[in-house]
Amino acid sequence: MKVLVINCGSSSLKYQLIDSANETVLAKGLCERIGIDGAITHQKAGGEKQTWQMDMPNHTKAVSYVIDKLLDKEVGAISSLDEIDAVGHRIVHGGEKFAKSVIITEEVMKAIEECNDLAPLHNPANLIGIRSCREVMPNVPMVAVFDTAFHQTMPKKAYMYGLPNEYYEKYKVRRYGFHGTSHDYVSHRAAQLLEKDIKDLKIIVCHLGNGASVSAVQYGECVDTSMGLTPLEGLIMGTRSGDIDPAIVSFIAQKEHISAEEVINICNKKSGVLGLSGGLSSDFRDLAGAAQEGNELAKVALETWAYRVAKYVGAYAAAMNGVDAIVFTAGVGENNTAARAEVCSYLNYLGITIDDAANQKRGEEVFLSTPDSSVSVMVIPTDEEMAIARQTAMLVK
Ligand code: ADP
Repeated sequence: MKVLVINCGSSSLKYQLIDSANETVLAKGLCERIGIDGAITHQKAGGEKQTWQMDMPNHTKAVSYVIDKLLDKEVGAISSLDEIDAVGHRIVHGGEKFAKSVIITEEVMKAIEECNDLAPLHNPANLIGIRSCREVMPNVPMVAVFDTAFHQTMPKKAYMYGLPNEYYEKYKVRRYGFHGTSHDYVSHRAAQLLEKDIKDLKIIVCHLGNGASVSAVQYGECVDTSMGLTPLEGLIMGTRSGDIDPAIVSFIAQKEHISAEEVINICNKKSGVLGLSGGLSSDFRDLAGAAQEGNELAKVALETWAYRVAKYVGAYAAAMNGVDAIVFTAGVGENNTAARAEVCSYLNYLGITIDDAANQKRGEEVFLSTPDSSVSVMVIPTDEEMAIARQTAMLVK
């Protein structure tokens, strides 16, 4: 089955055409600057990546360009639109309504819209993606895959904030968690690599990219995760602060004569390792380079980042009363050997021993722990698009 995976943002649209039968990517690309001017970058499997400037006034036009490229004799991957059997949409927030992926109907679209308040930057854009695809491909079945769904198994004690209950009752203010597709995919893959049933395992997944979150997956179900009502909670990220004392928001607002919204915007876009490093960079490669050259702020940024990850791993080992495997994934987790080593340096108390040579590997599945380590530590590259294609194919079949 050929599945078109769509990840639609407010001014961008990422896509991959995947053959779900043999799990191969046939073509992929990205539309950017939608509504401004527009460009499409497209790559056929085994081909060159090419970019075309295009007039892209809206997402529907962007989707029609994507179809043109997929059908193109030279750079395309299909000869007729009929070859697309299904479309899988990444949807950021499913609130409490969606605990798993669903076939998209009018009713589902309404329910996604009702979650707009919880993800005002993302859900409306995701819906535009769905509507645009429906216009261009009215007869192709579509599936919604939610970032929050995997975390809906969290028990109440993990998702409630210590706030007046009425805010939960009235506005559904609670912890939701994100990156669910990745945590789901990586934890199941870990069980496969360990040759064990996921129902017998306690796994901690560290999804460490520009956005980052940790999750505790006990016997195949998520029991806790570090992101909250929004992706701002938890780890120190590329540009997000992660956990802070909430009183800081009004304190900074008063001192700097700005609004609470502006402070939150700073917490989202100018904080994290970018903020800690004095604005140097949110990219871990830049920071590692600067730290090596003696930049003290870059060094502190990386140390503070790793310390927070280690604290969450400790918390989740406690939450599950044990841990069998710890998995690193996403850009930093898959590639940054120094960051992984730094996090692991806190974990000796769990009986973990790391094979330093194995930890030099990047971007591939590898066991970092030695065979006698009491907890397996692994790297598993995440593949959210493949996971979306898999779930889409399963529901449409
Ligand atoms: P997101 O999907 O949240 O935007 P990614 O998962 O792509 O983020 O992760 C981006 C981060 O991964 C960047 O900080 C980058 O420094 C880091 N990264 C990517 N590739 C490498 C690499 N080869 N070596 C070290 N760090 C890397």
